[in-house]
Amino acid sequence: MDVKNKRVTVVGFGRSGLAAARLLIRRQAVVTVTDLRPSSELEAPMAALKEGPIRYRLGGHPAEAFDDADLVVMSPGVSAETLQPVRLAAARGIPVIGEIELGFSFTTAPVVAITGTNGKSTTTALAGAILKEAGGEVFIGGNLGRPLCEAVLERSGGEGRPPWDWIVVEVSSFQLETIRSFRPRVAVLLNVTPNHLDRYRTMEDYRAAKWRLFENQTADDLAVINADDPVVFQQAASIRARRLLISRTPRPEEGVYLSSSAVVSIGAWTPSTRQEIIRQDEIPLRGSHNIENVLAASAVGIACGCPAGAVRKAVKEFKGLEHRLEAVRRRDSVLYVNDSKATTTVALAKALEAFCEPIVLIAGGRSKGGEFAFLRDLLRQRVKAAVLIGEARPILRAAWSGAVSMTEAGSLEEAVRLAAQTSAAGDVVLLSPACASFDMFRDFEDRGNRFKEIVNGL
Ligand code: ADP
Repeated sequence: MDVKNKRVTVVGFGRSGLAAARLLIRRQAVVTVTDLRPSSELEAPMAALKEGPIRYRLGGHPAEAFDDADLVVMSPGVSAETLQPVRLAAARGIPVIGEIELGFSFTTAPVVAITGTNGKSTTTALAGAILKEAGGEVFIGGNLGRPLCEAVLERSGGEGRPPWDWIVVEVSSFQLETIRSFRPRVAVLLNVTPNHLDRYRTMEDYRAAKWRLFENQTADDLAVINADDPVVFQQAASIRARRLLISRTPRPEEGVYLSSSAVVSIGAWTPSTRQEIIRQDEIPLRGSHNIENVLAASAVGIACGCPAGAVRKAVKEFKGLEHRLEAVRRRDSVLYVNDSKATTTVALAKALEAFCEPIVLIAGGRSKGGEFAFLRDLLRQRVKAAVLIGEARPILRAAWSGAVSMTEAGSLEEAVRLAAQTSAAGDVVLLSPACASFDMFRDFEDRGNRFKEIVNGL
């Protein structure tokens, strides 16, 4: 892509917008940045962006910032569809792309892209760790941590640093809405279950957004497909890339499977047709959902040519990410677990299934839509009491009434106190909200950090 002397409007000035603006300026574009927030709230990114000249249109997204644009670059948090000036720009034929597309178009390194409703971050981090273990120069980021444009800014050749061997990115369905040429060498789709139904009109719209991951792939690329997810597997035949399956039951096709309590790879693309990667009891991550993530990350490793020994070592040493079933502390023989990242009901279900101990659950926050009642059986089996927080309290109470004993708390402090009082030796106190955090916290990290502070202060 040539952006020299082109007028480019970057929408949103968070971390992705900042990286995009910086990359564009370096490529000699004429950059305008818009953000809903006023300049008083954006001092940090404005100070960080020393390169110039740059035009700021802050405190809104005024139409004039788009009038003369040749290109619009969206930050992942901003929806192109809901912004009138962006819709009008698109209608006038001005290309509207996302930060991930911009970064992609300036890199020559092979990209591994991972999406799905749940498990993206864990799988991205683990796949990156596997590629690093095998000795590569690996960038890990995307929706997780560092935006793709930062990968390009850091090493795009010519700066004396070797180019990336691999760029491993987590991509969200929102980011996939604004791709054009984005073509991962290896694309991973973990699962598609109801989520973000506040943003997508139907499940089909949501599935279609995820499916865009494969749209530019050819037979030279690879697609890692979860055969255990019906929504994913049913549509897999339409993918042009070479398919590697993952499943908890062995299959004859090329893939990575759980077989006789071990992760094995089967397929013509490996030197041998069947090789054992790691025994299940050597995997430190808890929960059957994490087996899916290990299968997917191992499939990435094998597909990228890593030796099985490197995959095994990286999986064995992987401790998991913060805020995902993170053990905080044991107090009076009660284990406190921070799973603040569980913002969906499916993630909550996975968390409940990961423990055989009785659970005192803290759940709630801002509902993202979707169905809560299907958890009733699981709650009955695993949860001895639930403490509800946040806006979703009445929704959860109605959905779970009669299945589990529930109390309500006005704050997270109160919820932890109530949970601690209710728990007995051998129990697990689990924060796994099944809801977004924005009613009470800045984001899920803020919620998880607050939980850890409160628990450590007990
Ligand atoms: P994402 O980045 O897609 O949100 P994470 O790896 O951050 O995924 O995990 C988010 C939550 O989803 C965690 O709390 C975890 O309990 C749950 N989870 C992780 N992997 C899976 C999976 N493969 N299937 C279902 N739920 C999962």
